Amino acid sequence: MKTIDDLDVAGRRVFVRADLNVPLAGDEITDDGRIRAAVPTIAKLAERGAKVIVASHLGRPKGAPDPQFSLRPVAARLGELLGKDVAFATDTVGDSAKATVAALADGEVTLLENLRFNAGETAKDDAERGAFADALAAFADAYVGDGFGAVHRKHASVYDLPARLPHAAGGLIATEVGVLKKLTEDVARPYAVVLGGAKVSDKLGVIDHLLGKADRLLIGGGMAYTFLAAQGHEVGKSLLQEDQIPAVKEYLARAEKQGVEFVLPVDVLAAPEFPDLKTKAPAHPVVVPADAIPADLEGLDIGPRTRELFAAKLADAATVFWNGPMGVFEHPDYADGTRAVAQALLDSPAFTVVGGGDSAAAVRILGFDENAFGHISTGGGASLEYLEGKTLPGLAALED
Ligand code: ADP
Ligand code: MG
Repeated sequence: MKTIDDLDVAGRRVFVRADLNVPLAGDEITDDGRIRAAVPTIAKLAERGAKVIVASHLGRPKGAPDPQFSLRPVAARLGELLGKDVAFATDTVGDSAKATVAALADGEVTLLENLRFNAGETAKDDAERGAFADALAAFADAYVGDGFGAVHRKHASVYDLPARLPHAAGGLIATEVGVLKKLTEDVARPYAVVLGGAKVSDKLGVIDHLLGKADRLLIGGGMAYTFLAAQGHEVGKSLLQEDQIPAVKEYLARAEKQGVEFVLPVDVLAAPEFPDLKTKAPAHPVVVPADAIPADLEGLDIGPRTRELFAAKLADAATVFWNGPMGVFEHPDYADGTRAVAQALLDSPAFTVVGGGDSAAAVRILGFDENAFGHISTGGGASLEYLEGKTLPGLAALED
């Protein structure tokens, strides 16, 4: 894979596919970690005299402009972090983008509007994606792939565009891939993996692969309830993927055969309703045993005994990969499980990698010093798919 040092950029228009998909509350950025992670490569290209065209997706708009997913607040924050104005184009390949790009001087930076405002970005149809990639390619002389969080997507700006331009990997992608390699080759043992979060179906797949790699799998967050159900327990109103129960049963059986330890919650914090994340009104959860969640309650965080259990299972690990919060950490009543795992990682001498948009944001939102962790990845799905051994379209496209 070429790096930006291999690209001739002075005086040329360089398209940087970044991942600036940050959490927003209204137009306020609640965690700017991904913007900060994108800055070094953009700054370096600008210093070298490139005309830098930055592009990203944000959220999941439906292929048309939708003001709640505008990147405008991101342009402002990117400008602050770079210490220079970032011209914002109000469309992706329309008149505004054309005018903004045409006006760029050497060393200047522009940000295009959300790529997913154009249906071509995520289209399944090759020709439709290709047409959007052609329009984007017309803006630039070279392509830099640096949006690690999107490399598992076969999208126009990630997969089709680099084929149309001289291309290289940005510094963020180079770092991320270097770290994940350490988790797949010669990993230091015991190797513990902590999985949580809400996207159960996305994450069950990685377990299949990790069963052959990890020594210990700790399961919290929404995914835990499918495991508890597979063991025959009542999970009440908790997140549950019933169709995955047979697969989960098979994982549990295989783990036992292979000597891989599954660590499931022994108690959970539960309440009749999902908490109000806007008002953060007190949720008054109760602690219930994980094998007997009352039918009218929803499990929303791991309980106090599970926090201790997980901390103990992480204390002697040599390598830890963590993806997905242990509970609905956005509400203060359900943040303790996630906090306990973050603290256990800090207390451990292990090589620790935190992967996942929300997990990484949680670490910072809960007030931890991110520099104290071995590595905080900007990619959730991307890092999981890398660990699964899949070919990632956005990385394959950067190979020569
Ligand atoms: P990541 O971005 O780190 O990969 P996900 O996107 O899968 O993580 O999941 C993050 C979300 O999971 C958070 O918004 C959190 O509120 C939610 N979550 C965690 N535990 C539960 C649970 N028990 N029930 C419902 N949602 C949960
Ligand atoms: Mg997420």
